[in-house]
Amino acid sequence: MTKKSLRPATLLVHQGTDRDPFTGASTVPIYQASTYHHPGGRSTRYDYARGGNPSREQVEETVALLEGGIRGFAFASGMSATGSALSLLKSGDHLIVPEDLYGGTYRYLTAILPNQGIEVSFVDQTDLSAVEAAIRKESRAIFLETPSNPRFRIADIRAISRLARERGLLTFLDNTFMTPLLQRPLELGIDVVIHSATKFLGGHSDLLAGVVTVREEDLARRLKLFQNAFGAVLSPFDSFLLTRGIKTLKVRLEAAQAGAGILAERLREHPAVSRVYYPGLADFPARDLHFRQASGPGAVLSFELRGKSRLTPFLEAIELPIIAPSLGGVETILTHCWSMSHAAVPVPVKQKLGIGENLLRLSVGIEDPEDLWDDLDRALG
Ligand SMILES: *Cc1c(COP(=O)(O)O)cnc(C)c1O
Repeated sequence: MTKKSLRPATLLVHQGTDRDPFTGASTVPIYQASTYHHPGGRSTRYDYARGGNPSREQVEETVALLEGGIRGFAFASGMSATGSALSLLKSGDHLIVPEDLYGGTYRYLTAILPNQGIEVSFVDQTDLSAVEAAIRKESRAIFLETPSNPRFRIADIRAISRLARERGLLTFLDNTFMTPLLQRPLELGIDVVIHSATKFLGGHSDLLAGVVTVREEDLARRLKLFQNAFGAVLSPFDSFLLTRGIKTLKVRLEAAQAGAGILAERLREHPAVSRVYYPGLADFPARDLHFRQASGPGAVLSFELRGKSRLTPFLEAIELPIIAPSLGGVETILTHCWSMSHAAVPVPVKQKLGIGENLLRLSVGIEDPEDLWDDLDRALG
């Protein structure tokens, strides 16, 4: 039985290395060591923990297997994963990114990349001709995030990666919202897949982590170099937590997604809600495209309150969800995008993108959806 032939639910539990190779312990221990003995001056394969250690390798192997990549790389956060992956670009390069994306990525693209001589164009990636029109001679890569955050705009992964390949461009995709269980971008033509593992992969709102996976040896070799050279690696302890979280990803995600479907339908009918964004709704505008490239709608939705004056009373009345900038936990998380996840995005840009002050994002957890609904319905008044 090779690990590659295993189905996702089995892979999640048995992962790459599912027990300690040295003792048979049921979990790979937290190898809390910064360096490794070289008997007789010879390396045993582990040299110095930044370069590699068994705790981190287990996570890296698992994520690569789940995404269908050849190698995975684990970082201290989703942002350090994104930054390390974007080190594939160099001064003079031009990068095409979506208009509507995670606020921290927006900050990285606008505050860091220009200082490194990399120019960034924000493009409506739901329009393939706009993506094509943005390509110029210096263009080196296209970065995607679909569904986008927080407006759930859907980019055509196959079409954009085909275009990129024809024009000799690399493609990156932030797959945090979908996880490899719902969307497998490497199989759709993407070169580099990035996750904030802080979210669904970790799943318990108790760690920060990021992972990157690729399908080509040359990219893997370069990312390995960046990971070691830049050094924003995932610690052994957090590798252990992430490994443990990943084991239950399928059951967590299925339960949360079922809850999100129920809440999206009911929120849409609620008089205090003017709009719901969720790919699982029958009238979601890009529903067909989303389901051609993903097998589920996910467990995150956004909704707009009818009128700004409802915001404070709602946030004061709601009890079960934590009100915070994150998603993908076992507990429901309510985010005020304007002031939290997208605080780094300037007000005029938020307005242009339709991220209003009355837009809320709900990452549905695995509580009983009826309790969540009772709470939402009461707080909406
Ligand atoms: C949270 C998030 C990130 C950043 O990850 P951190 O682990 O917080 O650094 C990147 N992309 C998306 C879509 C996210 O939700």
